[in-house]
Amino acid sequence: MESPCCKPRSRGRKPRQWFPLAAVGKTPVGFGGGLLRVPWAIGVILASMPSQDPIMVPLQGLGEMGMHSFAIGQGGSWVLVDLGARFSSGDSRPQVPEPILSWLCSLGGQLRGIVLTHGHRDHIGGVADLLDRLSPTGQGERTSGDVDAPGPTVYGSRWTLTLTRRLCEQRGVKHRSWKIVAPGDRWVVDRLAFTALPVEHSIPGAHALLMEAGAMRIVHTGDFSGHDHQQETWQAVLRKPTDYLLSDSTNATRQDDRMTEAQVLAHMGRAAETVQGAVLATTFASHVERIRGMLEIAERLGRRVFLLGRSLREQVTLALEQGHLPGRFRTCLQQASARHMPPHRLWIVASGSQGDVEGNCRRLGLGDHPHYVPKEGDGFIYSARVIPGYEPAVQAMWQSFEERGVTLFSEVTGHAVHTSGHAYPRAQRAMIRDVAPAHFIAVHGTGAHLEAHAALAETGRGLESDGVPAVHRVYTGAPMAFTPRGPVPVAVQPPFPPVCCPQGTPHP
Ligand SMILES: [Zn+2]
Repeated sequence: MESPCCKPRSRGRKPRQWFPLAAVGKTPVGFGGGLLRVPWAIGVILASMPSQDPIMVPLQGLGEMGMHSFAIGQGGSWVLVDLGARFSSGDSRPQVPEPILSWLCSLGGQLRGIVLTHGHRDHIGGVADLLDRLSPTGQGERTSGDVDAPGPTVYGSRWTLTLTRRLCEQRGVKHRSWKIVAPGDRWVVDRLAFTALPVEHSIPGAHALLMEAGAMRIVHTGDFSGHDHQQETWQAVLRKPTDYLLSDSTNATRQDDRMTEAQVLAHMGRAAETVQGAVLATTFASHVERIRGMLEIAERLGRRVFLLGRSLREQVTLALEQGHLPGRFRTCLQQASARHMPPHRLWIVASGSQGDVEGNCRRLGLGDHPHYVPKEGDGFIYSARVIPGYEPAVQAMWQSFEERGVTLFSEVTGHAVHTSGHAYPRAQRAMIRDVAPAHFIAVHGTGAHLEAHAALAETGRGLESDGVPAVHRVYTGAPMAFTPRGPVPVAVQPPFPPVCCPQGTPHP
């Protein structure tokens, strides 16, 4: 029996296929909501769904900002793709909602692998929690009964696994099964096959994935700002038709075009040249390419770099070890105090870009940092994005610098010293055009992002005339099966539990 949301695909027109049924409208559907509101549809589909279709359980990040993960299942085995943690200004550390951990643990030995697209915390921040719960000595619920079993193998690039293992070490979590994969590598987990595809993003070692289940071919972009479709691995993948494209929606609502990293660094260099006193700067600790750019500009201007912040120093240490930063920049890790340097020879990179209470940036702005007190004539380069919810803290931090006579360089002052690591519409269209999927699902973003991305795919602007995919709406908490005719809602075993957002209220 055909469900209302699995009409045959038709290229060259603009089918409007809403999924799940409860997601019609602009409000994302959370855990449980999709299931609870469409019980009749699930009953119908369970009776008719071919068992060989792969199933996706969107765990986080479809209709909400800041984290991402889904499980893909085929023939009784499951693979988790990414496991981000929720950031909240009140959290001591990012958390994975308990119902998600419980459900993943309840899969027991059926959870066969964890595939990580890249090393940002909103994609790997929950892995240590899960591995801890799955370990025989942890609080896990592994049902295999085999205490010697290594647990699910974790796959990712060298840099991604370096960062993930570091988080595990910090939590005291021991896990034995890791597998480094490089662009072009293909690996098989039971009946699912994965191929790593290189993409541009604001962290080294970011991968898109080709996921194959039987004849079904699904491309998941992960986070990306661009891709090179002429690259060998992409060429090999694009030679065959793709059934589904799951694509990063984060900047789908932006109208302008993305600056390149080189353009940002050129703007930053020009800003730094105007600073008479010390250059103070902040960016995300994971943005190795941006930090490298700062080190090179400082070197050119004859300024010595000091790093303030444990996470920043750790990332730079690891990046030096793995060759992502040239060895000559090791001097920035020396512990000497910046207080004794003349300001015009100084470039301080500080963590805490979101104005965190104990963050180095905030303390610098308040004149409360033991290593340096900003003065009139200094400049503060804000090379980061303000994360939604942190605007008041960041505004207060900027204000404190300005009150000390420090010049602020940021996007709000008209200085292009930051660019997003996510694709803008031009690159999103290029991805759809090159992959030319039969079906398109927007992932990773708020409801507004997903809707804008879906609309972009539906209009076909910038796509070849016959390349418009069938577009579907899928949100967190609504399990679906990938069928050749489109996604269909499906219930999973064990049952998928409802989840609450950090404030304790049911997720919208
Ligand atoms: Zn990312």
